[in-house]
Amino acid sequence: MTDCIFCKIASGEIPTKKIYEDQKFLAFLDVNPRAVGHCLIIPKKHAATLTDLPKEDAGPIFQIVQHLAKIITERLGAKGYNIGSNNGESAGQAVPHLHLHIIPRYDTDKHKAGFEAAFQVNEDAKKDIDKTLSTITRGKIIPPVKTTSSSPAANPSSSAKEQDETEDKKGEPKWCFNDEDDIGDDTIEH
Ligand code: AMP
Ligand code: ZN
Repeated sequence: MTDCIFCKIASGEIPTKKIYEDQKFLAFLDVNPRAVGHCLIIPKKHAATLTDLPKEDAGPIFQIVQHLAKIITERLGAKGYNIGSNNGESAGQAVPHLHLHIIPRYDTDKHKAGFEAAFQVNEDAKKDIDKTLSTITRGKIIPPVKTTSSSPAANPSSSAKEQDETEDKKGEPKWCFNDEDDIGDDTIEH
């Protein structure tokens, strides 16, 4: 999308403090960190929300979140982390390009209650953002990680029996809605 700030970051048009990149995804430090190491993981191709992301990318983006959470917490000495994603304006999504937040947490953290950490910019973390970048990347961005598709059909670790039970005749996972599925009858009006 031409007017999307995260598309511009993905294309390199806007500079960012990049920590991870592969063919499809990018991770960079949040400009207004809620904690030291607060970063965002995005698909390079524009998708407004998680439900707009092609379903084969849903598993991989979470595998990258898992991979980065481990590296970031180890390298920064964090004791935990919050994972979050606002989807849609009414959910508080300020940038309408899907992003998953990793917010590392520390024993010294002033915001003790879980997601409360997401509401307040940490000015010290903001001041030290370049130091955080070099502590995480150690001078070069984290190399691409191999991910597996979210579809059990493409996951070699699924047993043949599991595949039989979870796929329809076309090899589509049964638990996925297809575009033509009628889900209207169960829709609850708000
Ligand atoms: P959300 O409210 O979940 O949409 O969060 C958007 C996040 O993007 C906020 O935490 C912002 O601080 C962050 N953000 C906005 N512009 C940039 C940028 N150019 N580089 C890095 N982070 C940004
Ligand atoms: Zn975009």
